[in-house]
Amino acid sequence: MTAVIPDHRPGSGTASGPAAVAGAVDGARRAQPDWEALGFSGRKKALDAWRVLILRRTEELVALIREETGKTADDARLEVVLVADHLRWAAAHAGRVLGRRRVSSGLLMFNQSATVEYRPLGVVGVIGPWNYPAFIPIGPVAAALAAGNTVVLKPSELTPRVGAWLAATLAEAAPGPEVLRIVTGDGDTGAALCRAAVDKVSFTGSSATGRRVMAACAENLTPVVIEGGGKDAMIVAADADLEAAADAAVWAAMSNAGQTCVGLERVYVVDGVADRFLDLVTERAAALRTGERPDADLGRIVLPRQVEVIRSHVQDAVARGARVLLGGPRSISAPYVAPVVLAEVPEDSTALTEETFGPVLVVNRVSGVDEAVARTNASAYGLGASVYTRDRAQGRRIAARLRTGMVSVNAVIAFAGIPALPFGGTGDSGFGRVHGPDGLREFSRSQAVTTQRFRPLMQPNSFGRHPDTMRTLVRMVRALHGRRALSGGPSPRRGLPHGERTT
Ligand code: NDP
Repeated sequence: MTAVIPDHRPGSGTASGPAAVAGAVDGARRAQPDWEALGFSGRKKALDAWRVLILRRTEELVALIREETGKTADDARLEVVLVADHLRWAAAHAGRVLGRRRVSSGLLMFNQSATVEYRPLGVVGVIGPWNYPAFIPIGPVAAALAAGNTVVLKPSELTPRVGAWLAATLAEAAPGPEVLRIVTGDGDTGAALCRAAVDKVSFTGSSATGRRVMAACAENLTPVVIEGGGKDAMIVAADADLEAAADAAVWAAMSNAGQTCVGLERVYVVDGVADRFLDLVTERAAALRTGERPDADLGRIVLPRQVEVIRSHVQDAVARGARVLLGGPRSISAPYVAPVVLAEVPEDSTALTEETFGPVLVVNRVSGVDEAVARTNASAYGLGASVYTRDRAQGRRIAARLRTGMVSVNAVIAFAGIPALPFGGTGDSGFGRVHGPDGLREFSRSQAVTTQRFRPLMQPNSFGRHPDTMRTLVRMVRALHGRRALSGGPSPRRGLPHGERTT
């Protein structure tokens, strides 16, 4: 049986255009209390059923993703795998991360019991991009639903049917009031969702649109998560496994035809190994096939105007003296762009300062790791990065110096495939997190509750307190906290909820 993909039929949970936003938010608002009342286990059951249905219909979703984005079948299958894993994680862990837990009430308030829990916000608006039309929205959608919110999703105007398919399969797996509603349309519909009566907006897209989203949300003081663009770099140290690094670099730069927010756009390779690394990268990238053919490795560039951005970056680099190792302006034949590898590109050329979002890899040589770190951090973006070195301890030290939200050592983009890890960036790449415990908390509000267990001997919070009460309290606090601790304080291993461990 195949899912019925509603094409904006009334009552289908899918509506179209800015005028439809208020109705969708209203419907989601009405559905929310019952969804919240299911509790973590009831919602888990529904989300698990949804995941199973999605996996049963993998090839149907793959076909739809391909139809709307032109990506290769394997790139689309990777999306479905990631969708299932992230959905499973959010459903399985929401109760543990967000559920009520006791915290120490401390010596001063030892007559109180103290608890914290994370309650749903209400209705969450999700605005998604076209490059991963299933996987990207599922991060905030899964977390928001698992936390007890209902969701209105505005997919990209280029991929509305993938969004509608997700809502239709959830409605089928978990019949009842629709907790995931779709509004299709262009940027105006997204802007209307930002100004609607939603309790939070999760936006994924370009940093420029992110600024507009934030401005629109500011009108109602609606909080936002901004997952913006990136200009991810790889650092290749002198001791790196060059074969592995080259293989990973080509995949991270060229898969999905380079249209990945955490795709690789820059490599800083230490001088002594740069020539060998460049040979390996060029050889691998040259073997990739681009176009309509069934065995193609690279599909089309989805957004027609992006082809001109890619062309202008390549032309700018070449005009300013870049060495062309593979392809060049001639690689571009809309809607396809074949792999391009450039070296010795000036750091202030657009190919290194702006997001290219195509299969173009810049490889620049550096004198050492320090220079690589400085150049990586010089970007306005700060989404992901990768480091290749055989010395894993050195890899972690380099990672700690990078101003990015995510780093993989001896791998690329591994952080996106681990649902327990937070995903997000800094600088022009935005703020807030999806995925992992942070992602679940992003769509919740903490609520602190104290319950008095017995009347205290001293009553500082009363006008009827004894005249000596405050002086006695100050003496107590001085005795308890007035000296510097001899040890480093409580062990960081203690008090970490949810199985998070220090290393
Ligand atoms: P856009 O910024 O063009 O669009 C993103 C979404 O916002 C779309 O649904 C779009 O609608 C909508 N939108 C457009 N204008 C407005 C507005 N004024 N108010 C509210 N919503 C609006 O990004 P793309 O779709 O082109 O996606 C590519 C970008 O996304 C790249 O920069 C990429 O790096 C980034 N990205 C970031 C990720 C991350 O997690 N950090 C992950 C994936 C992509 P419509 O498409 O209908 O115009």
